[in-house]
Amino acid sequence: MLKDVFIGLSQNQFLTAAAKKYGLKLGAQTVVAGTNIEETIASIRELNAQGISCTVDNLGEFVFEKEEALKAKNSILEVIESIHANGVDAHISLKPTQIGLDIDYDFCYENLKEIVDAASKYDMHINIDMEDYGHVQPSYDLIDELLKEYDNVGTVIQSYFYRAEDDIKERKDLRLRIVKGAYKEPAEYAYQTREEIDANFIALIEYHLLHGKFTSIATHDHHIINHVIQFVEENEIPLEKFEFQMLYGFRKDMQLDLANKGYNFCTYVPFGDDWYGYFMRRLAERPQNLNLVAKQVFNKRTNTAIGLVAGAFLLGRLTSKKKK
Ligand SMILES: Cc1cc2nc3c(=O)[nH]c(=O)nc-3n(C[C@H](O)[C@H](O)[C@H](O)COP(=O)(O)OP(=O)(O)OC[C@H]3O[C@@H](n4cnc5c(N)ncnc54)[C@H](O)[C@@H]3O)c2cc1C
Repeated sequence: MLKDVFIGLSQNQFLTAAAKKYGLKLGAQTVVAGTNIEETIASIRELNAQGISCTVDNLGEFVFEKEEALKAKNSILEVIESIHANGVDAHISLKPTQIGLDIDYDFCYENLKEIVDAASKYDMHINIDMEDYGHVQPSYDLIDELLKEYDNVGTVIQSYFYRAEDDIKERKDLRLRIVKGAYKEPAEYAYQTREEIDANFIALIEYHLLHGKFTSIATHDHHIINHVIQFVEENEIPLEKFEFQMLYGFRKDMQLDLANKGYNFCTYVPFGDDWYGYFMRRLAERPQNLNLVAKQVFNKRTNTAIGLVAGAFLLGRLTSKKKK
């Protein structure tokens, strides 16, 4: 499966390091807002002007050194200050592994607490993104501990997990983003077919819209979006109880159209030099985006290690697939 090739590429540490060195390549600039905070604030301003709020993700992967985790924490603190100083409509999304969950739980908790505390002073929301299955329970533990002191924290429910139904019921008083789930997970923990995942996605969204706090419906799937629009109308769910979310650069016309129709809309804005894993996961979800890569890899100006290695790897995998 092409999806597996991209998931494999997303976990390649050599390519991740090369990508950091060479800047946005391979078409990533269409789905990553920039490599620094100034460029990102400019992108947020443009979206805000169209009635769209933003959740900002300072990209980071494979953090196994304390120094790197502290650097990530400090960058996120800078983003919080920058959002406040520039008066833009945005909040933060972050991944626990980026600030040290794979290094030490208590170290990660201290970093996270500092971030949540800084944001709480500006009444800014912090969303804890959910990663692969092994990180789900420790991430919930972090959140439960933070909720004893703070209320500006929310998280993500991944519909492909069997445990999602229990998780959403336990956390109905939180602002939750509900998604299908981005990682490759085994049948031991997760639904495998599109039909099962979509059915659970809809059930979880409906549950949280009826019984939960605020719901962020994060999908590019127009079938799901159309279903939600009909459901909120039939059940008279007020507009202020939910929003739609999509990733930066995806289905821009639909993002604008939903905002123009009066729905709350929030765009997930990733930025930073650690863009590679994020970009490969997007290709895994939608291999049609491969034409973005093809154009860049075979463009002479992009004659970099990252372009050549990823291109060779991809071609190798694709041609070996064709031979079978
Ligand atoms: C804001 C946001 C935050 C997220 N946070 C997390 C997280 O914390 N953890 C996590 O595991 N995952 C997260 N995800 C990823 C999510 O789990 C899915 O992997 C991802 O959104 C792809 O699924 P989908 O629902 O968008 O639709 P898909 O299942 O990818 O697509 C369904 C159908 O929608 C249509 N479609 C989709 N994309 C397009 C397009 N670009 N153009 C035209 N038609 C299209 C097609 O008809 C397609 O067949 C997040 C996603 C979003 C949008």
